[in-house]
Amino acid sequence: MSREQAGLFIRAIAQDNPAPETELLYTDAFSLLVAVVMSAQTTDAMVNKVTPGLFAAAPTPAAMAALGAEGIGQLIRRIGLWQAKAKNVAALSAMLVERHGGEVPRDRAALEALPGVGRKTANVVLNVMFGEATMAVDTHIFRLGNRTGLAPGKTTRAVEDGLVKRIPPELLRDAHHWLILHGRYICKARAPECWRCVAALHCNYKDKVKAPD
Ligand code: SF4
Repeated sequence: MSREQAGLFIRAIAQDNPAPETELLYTDAFSLLVAVVMSAQTTDAMVNKVTPGLFAAAPTPAAMAALGAEGIGQLIRRIGLWQAKAKNVAALSAMLVERHGGEVPRDRAALEALPGVGRKTANVVLNVMFGEATMAVDTHIFRLGNRTGLAPGKTTRAVEDGLVKRIPPELLRDAHHWLILHGRYICKARAPECWRCVAALHCNYKDKVKAPD
């Protein structure tokens, strides 16, 4: 897809949502970081069911480190991979206290050095909390990049690089949210709802789905 077409696609899916936001509940950089770590292979809605109780019990990295993996695990047992996530959240909280004075660093390498934090999570935190024009590629964006022709690629990094190259810079920061919402509600995994898609004119997907009878 050309840069011009990519711009038209993004503007189309942006038209009804000029100020998109993450659906995860958070109040500061630390709670956002923890929520994103917990969202791996779990829906945002599910994460939002357990984080209010967790953040009430441990609102700061120091309190979270003190709560420990076991205490965290007791509060997040309803989400997938809760044991590994509890360990990571306890360890990353301790590292924030030890290395960063209890603050979430605005630095990709420092973020990716935290337990349980990969490139995608670092991109979300840099984007949402620090206003940087990063593109975090989750399962929805990976599918959309390939299906629509926006940024075909075999790896999440290839799709990320393709999107960063093609999406107009002024749209890039919010494009992360627009693409996730579009993938979650319209361009769904099993059956994209092309018949009601506002970006259909600018999409290269050949097997567009018609409205059900
Ligand atoms: S036309 Fe269909 S495949 Fe293309 S973006 Fe819209 S929903 Fe997805």
